[in-house]
Formats: sequence, structure tokens, C-alpha cells
Amino acid sequence: MAGIYIHIPFCKQKCHYCNFYSIVSLKHTKDYITALLKEIYLQKNYLQNEAVKSIYFGGGTPSVLRTSEIALILNEIFKIYNVDTNAEITLEANPDDISLSKLYDLKKASINRLSIGIQSFNDNDLKYLKRIHNSGQALNSIKLARDAGFTNLSIDLIYGIPALTKESWTKNLEYFFNSDIPHLSAYSLTIEHKTVLNKLILQKKAQPPDENQSIEHFKILLELSKQNNFIHYEISNFCKEGFYSKHNSIYWLGGNYLGLGPSAHSYNGYSRQWNVSNVSQYINPENYKNIVFEKEILTKEQKYNEYVMTSLRTIWGCDLGYIQKTFGENFHKFILKESLKFIEQELLVFEQNKLFLTDKGKLFADGIASGLFRVKINM
Ligand code: SF4
Repeated sequence: MAGIYIHIPFCKQKCHYCNFYSIVSLKHTKDYITALLKEIYLQKNYLQNEAVKSIYFGGGTPSVLRTSEIALILNEIFKIYNVDTNAEITLEANPDDISLSKLYDLKKASINRLSIGIQSFNDNDLKYLKRIHNSGQALNSIKLARDAGFTNLSIDLIYGIPALTKESWTKNLEYFFNSDIPHLSAYSLTIEHKTVLNKLILQKKAQPPDENQSIEHFKILLELSKQNNFIHYEISNFCKEGFYSKHNSIYWLGGNYLGLGPSAHSYNGYSRQWNVSNVSQYINPENYKNIVFEKEILTKEQKYNEYVMTSLRTIWGCDLGYIQKTFGENFHKFILKESLKFIEQELLVFEQNKLFLTDKGKLFADGIASGLFRVKINM
């Protein structure tokens, strides 16, 4: 099961919390497509003809591209890679880019799943985050997606925003659960070092998020998702049965994936590589014959750590039988011993030879995972 990720590194404006690689200019989109088509060809052997179950346009803002450009990229991928006929093909879209005619065209171009960057239905939150859209556009984008016949739909929401009270977070979630959308990605606001928001907080021009408030919001999220029969299948992801994100599941279940475009990461079970995070370098014709990337060969310890970190975050749990078989008896004994303290603290449960986070443990997922790492790494 393999996936292809395409990074579209353009945004109309930079959101204050954003740490993804993107530039605020659309003037290079044409050259970018040319370079991307070259990379699609150059990487043709990376997945070794493995069936591609998912294609994902992420960013940046993929919805700033013309639909004809999306179609051009997809047609090139269909020509060169072994794409499954039922592949999930997702496009991340911002509410302000969505119109009915664009959505119809995206469907025609084979996009069958939309992930809309709503973040909040509250205008104060959207202003704090410096999102380009408002709450009216957020609500309208969902309606338009439905009208265009997109049934495989996901939205992103952010919690832990300082002005977001428990009541307004509950209201955001109620909008979601009442809108019959089958998938939600909900993230706690984190302040990344190089973001504008970090600067504003340091200058005391913006309020910092409060960890306790974020924990309260997460608890509300867990409660409401249970009440609405959503499956909490990964720390930040919730869905109705049958609507798991195939693409992200490839990452979480250790599948192979090819990342195309600046800053995109690829993984083939043996090594990880990441393209240069620089549009100018990426589109430079001198680089058309050689993709500019860095690569690391993963050690057994790194692969074990990654498996522990990603599997623990999912509903499928961390399989100690798999650890024994793949990494050997030493790793198996190590995790058995190290997990005991977390089990005693009711942060983990051990069932059917697998470790799972409890609801309490979900609040400390990263810390628990790093407590089980074979070689400690900074997170
Ligand atoms: S639209 Fe997305 S990628 Fe672009 S700046 Fe905002 S959060 Fe970042």
C-alpha cells in the first residue's frame, strides 16, 4: 500500500501560526508545474510499481492552483505510476478558494476527497490565526462541497486558541457534528519557533495559548466524538466507519510514500528523504535532471522509535508481536519493561499483545512514546 504526496508551496497570505513551507506569491506556479512534472518522471522507480492507494495534494494551499493544473499533474501520475482504480485522491482546499464550478471541475479531474481548512467557525479565532477566510465562507464552503456531490469530506479545526472558550469550542464541534461530514482532523494550537505568532507572543502583542485550556478542549472533543459515534482512530483524527484517511493511514502504518515538490518527504521502508525547501531552487532548470534532496538511512533504532511513536497514536495500537518479529527479542523485552510504569499510571493498557493509550494517556502521547524509545531523541 503506497501513497503519493504533492506539496503545493503557495499561499495567498501566511497564517500566523503556520510552520509549513510555503511562499506568499503565485508568480512561480507555472514554472513550479513544469518542475513538478519533471520530478514525477524522475521519481518513477521510487515506489517500484507498488499499487498507489492514495494521492494527496497538500501544502501550502493546493486550491490556489487552477483545476487544469491539478488535472495535468494527476494525468502525469496516472501515466507513470501504478495507481489503483479506487485510489483516494485528496485535495486540501481553503474556504475562500471554493466555488461550485471549481468543485465540479475538481471532481472531473478525479479528486474524490476534499479536506477543507476551516480551523474555526468563529471570526475572532480566524483573525487571531490570521486566516484569509471568515466564518461565513467556512460554512458556505461546506455547503458548496455537499452541493457538488463530495461525500468523502474532511475539515480541520484548531483548539486551544486563547479566545476560544469551552462554549465556543463546543459550538464549533456542534457545527461539525450537525453537518454530516464524515471526517475531522482537530489539532491543538502549538506555537512553533519561527512563526509570526511566536514573535507576536514574545512581543506581548498576542496572547499565548494555555495548556490547561487545550486539555479541557481535548476532553470535550473526546466526549462529543463518542456521543456522535465517531471513531477516534488517531490522536488528531476522527471519522465515521469507512472514512479513515487512507493517505495518513499509510504514514501511520509504516507504508511507503513518495513526496513530490519542495520540502516533501519520501519513505521506502529503508530510508527517508526530503526535497529542498526552496521554490527557487526547485524550479531552477539546472536541477531538472537531479532532484535536490537530503537523505538518511534509518537505523533499526530509528525505525523502532518511529513505529512506537506512530502506532501508539492510532486505534490499532503498538503490536509487541510485530516488534519481536521485526526488531528482535532485545527490543521486545525493552518495551515490555519500559511500558510497565505507564500501565501502572493508567496511561497505557496492554491487550492482545498490543499497547494502547488510554484517554488519559492521549493527553501525554508524545511523552509516553519518547519514554519507550530505544535511543532517546529530542522531540
Ligand atoms: S493556508 Fe495553510 S499552509 Fe498556507 S499559511 Fe495558512 S496554514 Fe500555512
